[in-house]
Amino acid sequence: MSINKEIPYKIYLNEDEMPRAWYNVRADMKNKPAPLINPGTGKPVTAADLEPVFCSELVKQELDNDTAFIPIPEDIFNFYRMYRPSPLVRAYCLEEKLQTPAKIYYKFEGNNTSGSHKLNSAIAQAYYAKKQGLKGVTTETGAGQWGTALSMACSYFDLDCRVYMVKVSYEQKPFRREVMRTYGASVTPSPSETTNIGRKILQEHPGTTGSLGCAISEAVEAAVSSEGYRYVLGSVLNQVLLHQSVIGLETKAALDKYDIKPDIIIGCAGGGSNLGGLIAPFMGEKLRGEADYRIIAVEPASCPSLTRGKFAYDFADTGKVCPMAKMYTLGCDFIPAPNHAGCLRYHGMSTILSQLYHDGYMEATTAVQTDVFKAAEQFARVEGILPAPESSHAIKAAIDEALKCKETGEEKTIVFGLTGTGYFDLVAYEKFHNGEMDDYIPSDEELEAYFAKLPNVEG
Ligand SMILES: *Cc1c(COP(=O)(O)O)cnc(C)c1O
Repeated sequence: MSINKEIPYKIYLNEDEMPRAWYNVRADMKNKPAPLINPGTGKPVTAADLEPVFCSELVKQELDNDTAFIPIPEDIFNFYRMYRPSPLVRAYCLEEKLQTPAKIYYKFEGNNTSGSHKLNSAIAQAYYAKKQGLKGVTTETGAGQWGTALSMACSYFDLDCRVYMVKVSYEQKPFRREVMRTYGASVTPSPSETTNIGRKILQEHPGTTGSLGCAISEAVEAAVSSEGYRYVLGSVLNQVLLHQSVIGLETKAALDKYDIKPDIIIGCAGGGSNLGGLIAPFMGEKLRGEADYRIIAVEPASCPSLTRGKFAYDFADTGKVCPMAKMYTLGCDFIPAPNHAGCLRYHGMSTILSQLYHDGYMEATTAVQTDVFKAAEQFARVEGILPAPESSHAIKAAIDEALKCKETGEEKTIVFGLTGTGYFDLVAYEKFHNGEMDDYIPSDEELEAYFAKLPNVEG
């Protein structure tokens, strides 16, 4: 098969084609995501409830279900220009390798030092914290990409950055930790002895390798007990999906430039931010009845919130200090098996994506670890990029869809989000190469035990 280059390998936008506003998909949703509930009052949270925890402007964005376009402030736009627009790449070599009639594109978000899409929201959150005159922010990080992105953003705006890092990652991923410290952040393994909730969790589960839910509780506690600090979160929240809409807006602008209409849009889903951002403008068209797309979320079989979770109110964090959200959840006590490669570990899912999935606007599927790494390796060998394990869930699903096209002869156009690079995930790659990786899948009984502990809130 000879490569047809009528579409360039990489479609870049010019600076004047970059989006000047984020798109808020909630504005076009008939069924809005259910409101967050204040566990103290049992009522929907108000701005006043959230302001001790989050920056004021971000609270506004979190609660805004109606404004479709929110202008990107000049300082954030200027930062974006350092590493955006990110390329939309035609995966000609992968297509050829698979011998598929499908056309495959990926939006590559790994081209910045943090190595992932997370910088898109980190810079926005740091900007609003600075604008509010805060001293610093606290956060949690799982695999370390969010902490890395946030430490870069904080150093740009000269803000203090305190990161609680899930212990298993802190131990397995020392390199990310050192990138964070290079950018001036302080990094604490979670659970830690530095917070009440950390001490409590350590007492109840000695030897635990931690979870995102637990690290969130610690970071929130650290923020509300330190003057001039607020808490920031790298995924799940509405505001994060809003900021990540730059991914989708750029993707759509690049496709429109060459008159390309995707049939299938695929993204990996941890808390839902890259997927929510990638699909935003396409979902908008779908919600408004202007176009139709198949949209597929891919999650790990070991942490299957959309595919096997319950759509119910649950706590956002293990310590139950955060508001409750109605989402697909595995229960806030769910701790993924420690052998899980340390990615996409969150027990819940964005309330926006949860509602859209519940209403039938998107599909979800799972992939087991070893299949994900097989896909990662296959991709690395032909497309040159060493993908993040998280991103490789999307690669796996894109390859599967392309192979289906090979069987049926359909020339579908597939777009997927390549959210980051895997240079700091080589311990996981090593396990895969040594045959030490197993495909743990939680049993129904295990999940039922977590579901039984869900809070009893009608929504
Ligand atoms: C954090 C991360 C994800 C998953 O988070 P979402 O909020 O679901 O997007 C995916 N890929 C990479 C590279 C990440 O760093």
